[in-house]
Amino acid sequence: MLRFITGGNYFSSGNEPAENNPVTPMLRHLIYKIKSTGPITVAEYMKEVLTNPAKGYYVYRDMLGEQGDFITSPEISQIFGELLGIWFISEWMATGKSTAFQLVELGPGRGTLVGDILRVFTQLGSVLKNCDISVHLVEVSQKLSEIQALTLTEEKVPLERNAGSPVYMKGVTKSGIPISWYRHLHDVPKGYSFYLAHEFFDVLPVHKFQKTPQGWREVFIDIDPQISDKLRFVLAPSATPAEAFIQHDETRDHVEVCPDAGVIIEELSQRIALTGGAALVADYGHDGTKTDTFRGFCGHKLHDVLIAPGTADLTADVDFSYLRRMAQGKVASLGPIKQHTFLKNMGIDVRLKVLLDKSNEPSVRQQLLQGYDMLMNPKKMGERFNFFALLPHERLQGGRHQRNARQSKPFASLVAGFSELAWQ
Ligand code: SAH
Repeated sequence: MLRFITGGNYFSSGNEPAENNPVTPMLRHLIYKIKSTGPITVAEYMKEVLTNPAKGYYVYRDMLGEQGDFITSPEISQIFGELLGIWFISEWMATGKSTAFQLVELGPGRGTLVGDILRVFTQLGSVLKNCDISVHLVEVSQKLSEIQALTLTEEKVPLERNAGSPVYMKGVTKSGIPISWYRHLHDVPKGYSFYLAHEFFDVLPVHKFQKTPQGWREVFIDIDPQISDKLRFVLAPSATPAEAFIQHDETRDHVEVCPDAGVIIEELSQRIALTGGAALVADYGHDGTKTDTFRGFCGHKLHDVLIAPGTADLTADVDFSYLRRMAQGKVASLGPIKQHTFLKNMGIDVRLKVLLDKSNEPSVRQQLLQGYDMLMNPKKMGERFNFFALLPHERLQGGRHQRNARQSKPFASLVAGFSELAWQ
Protein backbone atom coordinates (compact mmCIF):
# COMPACT_ATOMS: atom_id res chain seq x y z
CA MET A 1 0.00 0.00 0.00
CA LEU A 2 1.37 3.45 -0.95
CA ARG A 3 1.76 5.85 1.94
CA PHE A 4 0.04 9.11 1.05
CA ILE A 5 1.23 12.34 2.61
CA THR A 6 -1.19 14.78 4.22
CA GLY A 7 -1.71 17.52 1.62
CA GLY A 8 -2.71 21.19 1.70
CA ASN A 9 -6.22 22.53 1.78
CA TYR A 10 -6.08 24.18 -1.66
CA PHE A 11 -9.20 26.03 -2.70
CA SER A 12 -11.45 24.17 -0.28
CA SER A 13 -11.34 25.05 3.38
CA GLY A 14 -11.40 21.41 4.46
CA ASN A 15 -12.37 22.63 7.93
CA GLU A 16 -16.15 22.50 7.77
CA PRO A 17 -17.78 21.20 10.97
CA ALA A 18 -19.27 17.70 10.61
CA GLU A 19 -22.89 18.96 10.68
CA ASN A 20 -22.21 20.86 7.44
CA ASN A 21 -20.94 17.71 5.82
CA PRO A 22 -24.03 15.63 5.07
CA VAL A 23 -23.35 12.08 3.95
CA THR A 24 -24.69 12.18 0.40
CA PRO A 25 -25.13 9.00 -1.70
CA MET A 26 -22.11 10.18 -3.73
CA LEU A 27 -19.98 10.55 -0.56
CA ARG A 28 -20.96 7.03 0.49
CA HIS A 29 -20.02 5.75 -2.99
CA LEU A 30 -16.64 7.52 -2.90
CA ILE A 31 -15.81 6.32 0.60
CA TYR A 32 -16.57 2.76 -0.49
CA LYS A 33 -14.39 3.20 -3.57
CA ILE A 34 -11.46 4.67 -1.62
CA LYS A 35 -11.73 1.96 1.06
CA SER A 36 -11.54 -0.76 -1.57
CA THR A 37 -8.89 0.64 -3.96
CA GLY A 38 -7.15 3.52 -2.16
CA PRO A 39 -7.09 7.32 -2.58
CA ILE A 40 -8.32 8.71 -5.92
CA THR A 41 -6.96 11.49 -8.12
CA VAL A 42 -8.79 14.84 -8.27
CA ALA A 43 -9.62 13.98 -11.90
CA GLU A 44 -11.29 10.74 -10.89
CA TYR A 45 -13.13 12.56 -8.10
CA MET A 46 -14.42 15.23 -10.53
CA LYS A 47 -15.45 12.63 -13.06
CA GLU A 48 -17.33 10.52 -10.50
CA VAL A 49 -19.01 13.47 -8.81
CA LEU A 50 -20.10 15.18 -12.04
CA THR A 51 -20.83 12.46 -14.55
CA ASN A 52 -21.18 9.09 -12.76
CA PRO A 53 -24.07 7.53 -14.73
CA ALA A 54 -26.03 6.64 -11.57
CA LYS A 55 -25.41 9.55 -9.18
CA GLY A 56 -23.49 12.28 -11.08
CA TYR A 57 -24.29 15.93 -10.39
CA TYR A 58 -24.87 16.65 -14.10
CA VAL A 59 -26.77 13.49 -14.89
CA TYR A 60 -30.11 13.95 -13.14
CA ARG A 61 -30.64 17.60 -12.33
CA ASP A 62 -31.09 21.03 -13.85
CA MET A 63 -28.48 23.11 -12.08
CA LEU A 64 -28.68 26.18 -14.31
CA GLY A 65 -30.43 29.48 -13.74
CA GLU A 66 -31.43 31.60 -10.77
CA GLN A 67 -32.94 28.68 -8.84
CA GLY A 68 -29.92 26.47 -9.57
CA ASP A 69 -26.24 26.61 -8.67
CA PHE A 70 -24.87 28.87 -11.40
CA ILE A 71 -26.04 30.98 -14.31
CA THR A 72 -24.41 31.19 -17.73
CA SER A 73 -24.28 33.94 -20.39
CA PRO A 74 -26.94 32.46 -22.71
CA GLU A 75 -29.31 32.22 -19.73
CA ILE A 76 -28.64 35.88 -18.93
CA SER A 77 -29.27 37.48 -22.31
CA GLN A 78 -30.60 36.39 -25.71
CA ILE A 79 -28.05 38.74 -27.30
CA PHE A 80 -25.21 36.38 -26.38
CA GLY A 81 -26.51 33.49 -28.52
CA GLU A 82 -27.60 35.82 -31.31
CA LEU A 83 -24.08 37.21 -31.68
CA LEU A 84 -22.62 33.70 -31.68
CA GLY A 85 -25.11 32.78 -34.41
CA ILE A 86 -23.82 35.71 -36.45
CA TRP A 87 -20.24 34.53 -35.84
CA PHE A 88 -21.01 31.14 -37.41
CA ILE A 89 -22.76 32.71 -40.40
CA SER A 90 -19.89 35.12 -40.85
CA GLU A 91 -17.39 32.21 -40.88
CA TRP A 92 -19.63 30.23 -43.22
CA MET A 93 -19.67 33.18 -45.63
CA ALA A 94 -15.96 33.87 -45.33
CA THR A 95 -15.12 30.29 -46.25
CA GLY A 96 -17.19 30.04 -49.40
CA LYS A 97 -20.81 29.39 -48.29
CA SER A 98 -20.72 25.58 -48.35
CA THR A 99 -23.98 23.91 -49.37
CA ALA A 100 -24.29 22.15 -46.00
CA PHE A 101 -22.95 22.35 -42.46
CA GLN A 102 -23.40 20.72 -39.08
CA LEU A 103 -23.76 22.85 -35.96
CA VAL A 104 -22.26 20.81 -33.11
CA GLU A 105 -22.51 21.93 -29.48
CA LEU A 106 -20.61 20.30 -26.62
CA GLY A 107 -22.45 20.49 -23.28
CA PRO A 108 -25.54 22.46 -24.35
CA GLY A 109 -27.05 22.95 -20.85
CA ARG A 110 -30.70 23.84 -21.29
CA GLY A 111 -30.38 24.32 -25.05
CA THR A 112 -30.90 28.08 -24.71
CA LEU A 113 -27.72 28.98 -26.59
CA VAL A 114 -28.36 26.76 -29.59
CA GLY A 115 -32.00 27.96 -29.57
CA ASP A 116 -30.88 31.60 -29.86
CA ILE A 117 -28.41 30.66 -32.61
CA LEU A 118 -31.11 28.83 -34.58
CA ARG A 119 -33.41 31.87 -34.29
CA VAL A 120 -30.71 33.96 -36.01
CA PHE A 121 -30.39 31.28 -38.70
CA THR A 122 -34.15 31.55 -39.28
CA GLN A 123 -34.04 35.36 -39.35
CA LEU A 124 -31.22 35.23 -41.88
CA GLY A 125 -33.05 32.53 -43.84
CA SER A 126 -32.59 34.39 -47.12
CA VAL A 127 -28.79 34.17 -46.69
CA LEU A 128 -28.82 30.50 -45.64
CA LYS A 129 -31.68 29.39 -47.89
CA ASN A 130 -29.70 26.93 -50.02
CA CYS A 131 -27.72 25.50 -47.13
CA ASP A 132 -28.58 22.16 -45.49
CA ILE A 133 -28.11 22.57 -41.76
CA SER A 134 -28.22 19.86 -39.08
CA VAL A 135 -27.77 20.18 -35.31
CA HIS A 136 -25.72 17.74 -33.21
CA LEU A 137 -25.63 17.95 -29.42
CA VAL A 138 -23.01 16.18 -27.28
CA GLU A 139 -24.57 15.76 -23.84
CA VAL A 140 -24.03 13.22 -21.04
CA SER A 141 -26.93 14.38 -18.90
CA GLN A 142 -30.21 12.57 -19.35
CA LYS A 143 -32.10 15.30 -17.52
CA LEU A 144 -30.58 18.15 -19.54
CA SER A 145 -31.04 16.34 -22.86
CA GLU A 146 -34.78 16.13 -22.05
CA ILE A 147 -34.87 19.87 -21.30
CA GLN A 148 -32.94 20.58 -24.54
CA ALA A 149 -35.47 18.53 -26.52
CA LEU A 150 -38.33 20.42 -24.90
CA THR A 151 -36.72 23.79 -25.70
CA LEU A 152 -35.66 22.99 -29.23
CA THR A 153 -37.86 20.40 -30.90
CA GLU A 154 -41.20 20.44 -32.60
CA GLU A 155 -43.77 18.77 -30.33
CA LYS A 156 -45.75 17.29 -33.20
CA VAL A 157 -42.77 15.26 -34.46
CA PRO A 158 -42.10 12.49 -31.91
CA LEU A 159 -38.51 12.04 -30.77
CA GLU A 160 -36.77 8.81 -31.74
CA ARG A 161 -35.01 7.33 -28.69
CA ASN A 162 -32.46 4.56 -28.52
CA ALA A 163 -30.56 4.54 -25.22
CA GLY A 164 -28.15 1.85 -26.43
CA SER A 165 -27.11 3.68 -29.60
CA PRO A 166 -24.34 6.31 -29.88
CA VAL A 167 -27.09 8.58 -31.26
CA TYR A 168 -29.41 8.27 -28.28
CA MET A 169 -32.09 10.71 -29.42
CA LYS A 170 -33.19 12.25 -32.73
CA GLY A 171 -35.81 14.80 -33.67
CA VAL A 172 -36.61 17.90 -35.69
CA THR A 173 -36.18 21.46 -34.38
CA LYS A 174 -39.01 24.00 -34.31
CA SER A 175 -37.55 25.49 -37.49
CA GLY A 176 -37.50 22.08 -39.21
CA ILE A 177 -33.81 21.20 -38.86
CA PRO A 178 -32.74 17.61 -38.02
CA ILE A 179 -31.27 17.38 -34.51
CA SER A 180 -29.42 14.46 -32.85
CA TRP A 181 -27.94 13.74 -29.41
CA TYR A 182 -24.67 11.89 -28.61
CA ARG A 183 -22.67 11.19 -25.47
CA HIS A 184 -19.28 11.58 -27.18
CA LEU A 185 -17.88 13.90 -29.80
CA HIS A 186 -16.31 10.99 -31.69
CA ASP A 187 -19.81 9.67 -32.49
CA VAL A 188 -20.85 12.89 -34.28
CA PRO A 189 -20.62 12.35 -38.07
CA LYS A 190 -17.53 13.86 -39.65
CA GLY A 191 -18.22 16.59 -42.17
CA TYR A 192 -18.08 20.35 -42.58
CA SER A 193 -19.01 21.55 -39.08
CA PHE A 194 -19.12 24.50 -36.74
CA TYR A 195 -18.35 23.44 -33.19
CA LEU A 196 -19.33 25.33 -30.06
CA ALA A 197 -18.26 24.75 -26.46
CA HIS A 198 -19.53 27.27 -23.94
CA GLU A 199 -18.72 26.55 -20.28
CA PHE A 200 -17.93 22.97 -21.27
CA PHE A 201 -14.15 22.64 -20.88
CA ASP A 202 -14.25 23.92 -17.28
CA VAL A 203 -16.18 20.84 -16.11
CA LEU A 204 -13.71 18.34 -17.57
CA PRO A 205 -11.64 16.54 -14.90
CA VAL A 206 -8.27 18.01 -13.91
CA HIS A 207 -5.28 16.41 -12.22
CA LYS A 208 -3.63 18.62 -9.59
CA PHE A 209 0.10 18.66 -8.88
CA GLN A 210 2.18 20.24 -6.14
CA LYS A 211 5.89 20.97 -6.53
CA THR A 212 7.88 19.41 -3.65
CA PRO A 213 11.62 19.07 -2.97
CA GLN A 214 11.29 15.55 -4.40
CA GLY A 215 9.67 16.78 -7.62
CA TRP A 216 6.04 17.01 -8.76
CA ARG A 217 3.58 15.13 -6.56
CA GLU A 218 -0.04 14.57 -7.51
CA VAL A 219 -2.85 15.60 -5.16
CA PHE A 220 -5.18 12.73 -4.26
CA ILE A 221 -8.37 12.51 -2.23
CA ASP A 222 -8.53 10.19 0.78
CA ILE A 223 -10.75 9.54 3.80
CA ASP A 224 -9.90 11.68 6.82
CA PRO A 225 -8.51 9.28 9.46
CA GLN A 226 -9.99 11.44 12.26
CA ILE A 227 -13.55 11.68 10.87
CA SER A 228 -14.80 8.63 9.00
CA ASP A 229 -17.36 10.43 6.78
CA LYS A 230 -15.01 13.18 5.70
CA LEU A 231 -12.63 13.48 2.76
CA ARG A 232 -9.29 15.26 2.69
CA PHE A 233 -6.48 16.03 0.24
CA VAL A 234 -3.24 14.06 0.40
CA LEU A 235 -0.09 14.01 -1.74
CA ALA A 236 1.09 10.93 -3.63
CA PRO A 237 4.37 9.59 -2.22
CA SER A 238 5.92 9.14 -5.67
CA ALA A 239 5.51 10.22 -9.29
CA THR A 240 2.22 9.43 -11.09
CA PRO A 241 1.55 9.06 -14.86
CA ALA A 242 -0.38 12.33 -15.37
CA GLU A 243 2.88 14.20 -14.57
CA ALA A 244 3.63 13.70 -18.29
CA PHE A 245 1.13 16.54 -18.96
CA ILE A 246 3.24 19.12 -17.09
CA GLN A 247 5.55 21.23 -19.24
CA HIS A 248 9.28 20.62 -18.67
CA ASP A 249 9.96 24.33 -18.12
CA GLU A 250 6.97 24.84 -15.76
CA THR A 251 7.72 27.56 -13.18
CA ARG A 252 4.55 27.43 -11.07
CA ASP A 253 4.49 25.51 -7.75
CA HIS A 254 1.03 24.13 -8.27
CA VAL A 255 -0.57 23.17 -11.59
CA GLU A 256 -3.79 21.67 -12.89
CA VAL A 257 -3.71 19.61 -16.08
CA CYS A 258 -6.72 18.41 -18.06
CA PRO A 259 -5.88 15.50 -20.41
CA ASP A 260 -9.56 15.17 -21.48
CA ALA A 261 -9.47 18.75 -22.82
CA GLY A 262 -6.42 17.80 -24.89
CA VAL A 263 -8.18 14.76 -26.35
CA ILE A 264 -11.19 16.87 -27.36
CA ILE A 265 -9.08 19.67 -28.86
CA GLU A 266 -7.10 17.09 -30.85
CA GLU A 267 -10.31 15.55 -32.19
CA LEU A 268 -11.74 18.98 -33.08
CA SER A 269 -8.47 19.99 -34.76
CA GLN A 270 -8.29 16.83 -36.83
CA ARG A 271 -11.89 17.23 -37.95
CA ILE A 272 -11.46 20.89 -38.87
CA ALA A 273 -8.19 20.23 -40.71
CA LEU A 274 -9.86 17.40 -42.65
CA THR A 275 -13.26 18.81 -43.52
CA GLY A 276 -13.15 22.54 -42.72
CA GLY A 277 -15.37 24.60 -40.45
CA ALA A 278 -14.40 26.17 -37.13
CA ALA A 279 -14.65 25.74 -33.37
CA LEU A 280 -15.55 28.46 -30.92
CA VAL A 281 -14.67 27.85 -27.26
CA ALA A 282 -15.83 30.27 -24.57
CA ASP A 283 -15.02 29.76 -20.92
CA TYR A 284 -13.33 31.22 -17.90
CA GLY A 285 -9.67 30.50 -17.82
CA HIS A 286 -6.11 31.68 -18.11
CA ASP A 287 -3.14 31.42 -20.40
CA GLY A 288 -1.01 29.01 -18.37
CA THR A 289 -0.57 31.36 -15.42
CA LYS A 290 -3.01 30.37 -12.65
CA THR A 291 -2.44 27.68 -10.05
CA ASP A 292 -5.22 26.48 -7.75
CA THR A 293 -8.59 27.06 -9.45
CA PHE A 294 -10.48 23.85 -8.63
CA ARG A 295 -13.66 24.96 -6.86
CA GLY A 296 -17.30 24.20 -6.22
CA PHE A 297 -20.51 26.17 -6.63
CA CYS A 298 -23.81 25.55 -4.89
CA GLY A 299 -26.71 27.99 -4.92
CA HIS A 300 -24.49 30.64 -6.61
CA LYS A 301 -21.99 30.51 -3.73
CA LEU A 302 -18.49 29.06 -3.50
CA HIS A 303 -18.72 25.59 -2.04
CA ASP A 304 -16.02 23.43 -0.44
CA VAL A 305 -15.21 20.84 -3.13
CA LEU A 306 -14.92 17.97 -0.63
CA ILE A 307 -18.19 18.64 1.20
CA ALA A 308 -21.46 16.90 0.23
CA PRO A 309 -20.17 15.74 -3.18
CA GLY A 310 -22.89 15.46 -5.81
CA THR A 311 -24.79 18.50 -4.54
CA ALA A 312 -22.51 21.19 -6.05
CA ASP A 313 -20.94 21.95 -9.40
CA LEU A 314 -17.18 21.34 -9.58
CA THR A 315 -15.08 23.35 -11.98
CA ALA A 316 -11.52 24.41 -12.81
CA ASP A 317 -10.34 27.30 -15.00
CA VAL A 318 -9.47 26.34 -18.56
CA ASP A 319 -5.77 26.56 -19.45
CA PHE A 320 -5.98 28.07 -22.94
CA SER A 321 -2.21 27.77 -23.45
CA TYR A 322 -2.67 23.99 -23.26
CA LEU A 323 -5.58 24.06 -25.74
CA ARG A 324 -3.41 26.10 -28.11
CA ARG A 325 -0.53 23.63 -27.81
CA MET A 326 -2.83 20.70 -28.55
CA ALA A 327 -4.12 22.37 -31.72
CA GLN A 328 -0.68 23.44 -32.95
CA GLY A 329 0.42 22.06 -36.30
CA LYS A 330 -3.08 20.86 -37.21
CA VAL A 331 -5.15 24.05 -37.25
CA ALA A 332 -4.71 27.74 -36.50
CA SER A 333 -5.98 29.17 -33.22
CA LEU A 334 -7.10 32.65 -32.26
CA GLY A 335 -7.39 34.05 -28.73
CA PRO A 336 -8.06 33.78 -25.92
CA ILE A 337 -9.58 37.25 -25.91
CA LYS A 338 -11.83 38.72 -23.27
CA GLN A 339 -15.58 38.31 -23.61
CA HIS A 340 -16.25 42.05 -23.61
CA THR A 341 -13.83 42.56 -26.52
CA PHE A 342 -15.30 39.67 -28.50
CA LEU A 343 -18.91 40.78 -27.99
CA LYS A 344 -18.05 44.42 -28.72
CA ASN A 345 -16.41 43.33 -32.00
CA MET A 346 -19.52 41.29 -32.81
CA GLY A 347 -21.67 44.42 -32.50
CA ILE A 348 -23.34 43.95 -29.10
CA ASP A 349 -23.98 47.71 -28.76
CA VAL A 350 -25.91 47.92 -32.02
CA ARG A 351 -27.91 44.79 -31.16
CA LEU A 352 -28.76 46.15 -27.71
CA LYS A 353 -29.96 49.42 -29.23
CA VAL A 354 -32.19 47.61 -31.74
CA LEU A 355 -33.80 45.55 -28.96
CA LEU A 356 -34.21 48.59 -26.68
CA ASP A 357 -35.81 50.60 -29.50
CA LYS A 358 -38.24 47.75 -30.17
CA SER A 359 -39.48 47.48 -26.60
CA ASN A 360 -41.66 49.90 -24.64
CA GLU A 361 -41.96 47.58 -21.68
CA PRO A 362 -39.82 49.01 -18.82
CA SER A 363 -39.20 45.57 -17.27
CA VAL A 364 -37.93 44.18 -20.62
CA ARG A 365 -35.69 47.20 -21.14
CA GLN A 366 -34.29 46.86 -17.65
CA GLN A 367 -33.64 43.16 -18.19
CA LEU A 368 -31.80 43.92 -21.44
CA LEU A 369 -29.62 46.53 -19.76
CA GLN A 370 -28.88 44.33 -16.76
CA GLY A 371 -28.01 41.43 -19.06
CA TYR A 372 -25.66 43.65 -21.06
CA ASP A 373 -23.93 44.79 -17.87
CA MET A 374 -23.51 41.23 -16.63
CA LEU A 375 -21.98 40.07 -19.94
CA MET A 376 -19.78 43.11 -20.56
CA ASN A 377 -18.77 44.61 -17.22
CA PRO A 378 -15.08 43.74 -16.70
CA LYS A 379 -15.82 43.08 -13.01
CA LYS A 380 -18.60 40.63 -13.93
CA MET A 381 -18.33 38.30 -16.92
CA GLY A 382 -16.64 40.75 -19.31
CA GLU A 383 -13.08 39.95 -18.29
CA ARG A 384 -13.54 36.62 -16.61
CA PHE A 385 -14.66 34.85 -19.76
CA ASN A 386 -12.53 34.30 -22.84
CA PHE A 387 -13.13 33.38 -26.45
CA PHE A 388 -10.84 31.07 -28.35
CA ALA A 389 -11.24 29.72 -31.91
CA LEU A 390 -9.83 26.92 -34.03
CA LEU A 391 -9.79 27.45 -37.79
CA PRO A 392 -8.25 25.69 -40.77
CA HIS A 393 -4.83 27.16 -41.62
CA GLU A 394 -6.14 28.26 -45.05
CA ARG A 395 -8.69 30.48 -43.32
CA LEU A 396 -5.96 32.73 -41.94
CA GLN A 397 -3.67 32.45 -44.92
CA GLY A 398 -6.32 33.31 -47.49
CA GLY A 399 -7.41 30.10 -49.15
CA ARG A 400 -9.26 29.55 -52.38
CA HIS A 401 -12.42 31.19 -51.11
CA GLN A 402 -10.77 34.13 -49.45
CA ARG A 403 -12.24 37.11 -51.18
CA ASN A 404 -10.02 39.53 -49.31
CA ALA A 405 -6.85 37.70 -50.18
CA ARG A 406 -5.25 40.78 -51.63
CA GLN A 407 -5.82 42.97 -48.57
CA SER A 408 -2.65 43.99 -46.82
CA LYS A 409 -4.09 43.57 -43.29
CA PRO A 410 -3.17 40.34 -41.49
CA PHE A 411 -5.85 37.74 -42.20
CA ALA A 412 -6.47 37.08 -38.50
CA SER A 413 -8.12 40.50 -38.41
CA LEU A 414 -10.77 39.20 -40.78
CA VAL A 415 -12.22 36.73 -38.31
CA ALA A 416 -15.22 38.38 -36.67
CA GLY A 417 -15.12 38.74 -32.90
CA PHE A 418 -11.32 38.65 -32.86
CA SER A 419 -11.60 41.86 -34.84
CA GLU A 420 -14.60 43.96 -35.81
CA LEU A 421 -17.39 42.17 -37.65
CA ALA A 422 -17.46 43.10 -41.32
CA TRP A 423 -19.86 41.36 -43.69
CA GLN A 424 -17.91 40.11 -46.68
N1 SAH B 1 -23.24 25.41 -22.39
C1 SAH B 1 -24.31 25.55 -21.42
C2 SAH B 1 -24.17 24.64 -20.21
C3 SAH B 1 -22.88 24.64 -19.44
S1 SAH B 1 -22.90 23.49 -18.09
C4 SAH B 1 -24.47 26.99 -21.02
O1 SAH B 1 -23.55 27.75 -21.23
O2 SAH B 1 -25.50 27.35 -20.47
C5 SAH B 1 -21.98 22.12 -18.73
C6 SAH B 1 -22.71 21.26 -19.72
O3 SAH B 1 -21.83 20.20 -20.14
C7 SAH B 1 -23.96 20.55 -19.23
O4 SAH B 1 -24.87 20.46 -20.29
C8 SAH B 1 -23.42 19.17 -18.83
O5 SAH B 1 -24.41 18.19 -18.72
C9 SAH B 1 -22.46 18.93 -19.96
N2 SAH B 1 -21.38 17.98 -19.68
C10 SAH B 1 -20.62 17.88 -18.59
N3 SAH B 1 -19.65 16.95 -18.76
C11 SAH B 1 -19.80 16.46 -20.00
C12 SAH B 1 -19.10 15.48 -20.78
N4 SAH B 1 -18.06 14.82 -20.28
N5 SAH B 1 -19.53 15.24 -22.04
C13 SAH B 1 -20.60 15.92 -22.56
N6 SAH B 1 -21.30 16.86 -21.86
C14 SAH B 1 -20.91 17.12 -20.61
